[in-house]
This record gives sequence, structure tokens and C-alpha cells, in this order.
Amino acid sequence: MSGRTALVTGGSRGIGRAIVRRLAEAGARVVFTYRSDEAAADELAAGYDDVVAVRADQADLASLDPMFAPVRDGLDILVNNAGIGPTAPIAELTGEEFDRVMTVNVKFALLAIREATTVLRDGGRIVNISTLNTVLPAPGLALYCASKAALEQVTAVAARELGPRRITVNTVSPGATDTDLLRASNPAEALTRAATLTALGRLGRPEDIAAVVALLVGPDAGWITGQNIRATGGLLI
Ligand code: NAP
Repeated sequence: MSGRTALVTGGSRGIGRAIVRRLAEAGARVVFTYRSDEAAADELAAGYDDVVAVRADQADLASLDPMFAPVRDGLDILVNNAGIGPTAPIAELTGEEFDRVMTVNVKFALLAIREATTVLRDGGRIVNISTLNTVLPAPGLALYCASKAALEQVTAVAARELGPRRITVNTVSPGATDTDLLRASNPAEALTRAATLTALGRLGRPEDIAAVVALLVGPDAGWITGQNIRATGGLLI
């Protein structure tokens, strides 16, 4: 990854943090975003020579400008990782909540891809993080599943549009992965059940997902595009 520049959204915690570490340790220059956890972002950036943190709240589309400012001179990898997963039954949903989740999870990511097309070098890579829940839905996840399903479709179309420039665009869909988001939206018993149902017998770790992203953005994955890689340890087979 030496000489390559990556932009990763939501790098301060969880899966995004593991992706930042993985790419930085492989030698990439990494710019990553965070929304609120400045201390975690600063601590991560301080651990590397060429890792930069930028505050960017995906609920506010004006964040696109500061996010792309450090990569205006060229980009090789965009990872749309940041996302939210609030839970509520459909009976309690509001139009405002629809707009918020759709903006953070798909509208911002789509516009980030649009921006990226102006700075990505030919042969670049885009990875969008979705979820196994788009094929394994659960009560309370209507907006989460709808927004991630939309992101999967954006991925497929972008793969067709950017293929002529040898830019690959793929989805990585994690299963139950041990992060703040997972623990905030599930009771402990559900996590134990998920581990039991997983073929490999445990919850995913953020590093498991980062490894799959590293594979897709690496030199050997140039022929993989428009795919949805379900990195779940075999939670659904
Ligand atoms: P997490 O632990 O909650 O971390 C979320 C990250 O995204 C944080 O860095 C957070 O920044 C950032 N973020 C949240 N809202 C944001 C916003 N409005 N604007 C900009 N950044 C924002 O989540 P995670 O579990 O690592 O999830 C990462 C991705 O994987 C998400 O897209 C999620 O849907 C997907 N996923 C996760 C699982 C799982 O089991 N964990 C399963 C399937 C898919 P701050 O820390 O600064 O707030």
C-alpha cells in the first residue's frame, strides 16, 4: 500500500478503526473521519506518521468538503464505513428519522462516491460497508436494512459506471461483529445466540472485517467488482 492514499469514514471506533490500522500498517497514507469521539480519533492518528483525522458528521452534507480537502491531490481507496443502526418498530417511525438514517447511511456515501470520482486515480478501489441484515432482517431494523440495501444498489451501479477506469466497487457485509454499535442494539443473550449460530463459533472482530477490506483494496483483487462479500464467519450459509 506504500504510495497509496485511502479515505475511510467512521475511523474512530469499531470496524472503521480496524480498517484504518490495517491500511496504515500496510504503508498507506490514511485520512479518516469521525463524528464525535475526538479523543479516540486523535489517539489513533497519533500512532502513525501518515494518518490524519477529520471531523465529518454524515448527517450534514457540508461535511463532504472538509473530508475531501486532504485528498484533493489524489486518492486510491475510498471506504464508506460509517453508519448508524438505530432500532425502532415501524409503528414508531417518523419521516424525520427516515431522512436521518438515509442521509447518514446512504445519501452521504453516494455523494462521497460522486466526489471520489473526481480524485480517484484509475485502478482505484471503493468499498462500501453494508450488513448481513439486508438478507437476514430482524424486527426494528426497517430503516437500517432499507438504507443498507440502497447502498448495495449504489455499489452495483457504481461498479458498472467506474469499470472502464479499472476502479472496482464492492460491498462488504459484516455479520455480528463485536463493536459499540452491536452492543448498543442487541441484548447480551442475542450476542451469545449469534456466536452459537455462527459456523466459526464466535462473534466477528473488527479485524476480521478489516482483513476482507484489505483483500479487496489490494493488488490481487482487481478482477473483483460489483460483488457483495458477506464476511460473517458463516452466520448465514
Ligand atoms: P460503531 O462502533 O458504532 O462505530 C461507528 C463509527 O462511525 C464511529 O467511528 C463513529 O464516529 C462513526 N459515525 C457514526 N455516526 C456518524 C456520522 N453521523 N457521521 C460520521 N461518522 C459517524 O459501528 P461499527 O459496528 O464499527 O459499524 C461500522 C459499519 O459496519 C457501519 O456501517 C455498520 O452498519 C456496519 N456493520 C456493523 C456490524 C456489527 O455487528 N458491528 C454488522 C454489520 C454491519 P464517532 O465515534 O466519532 O461517533
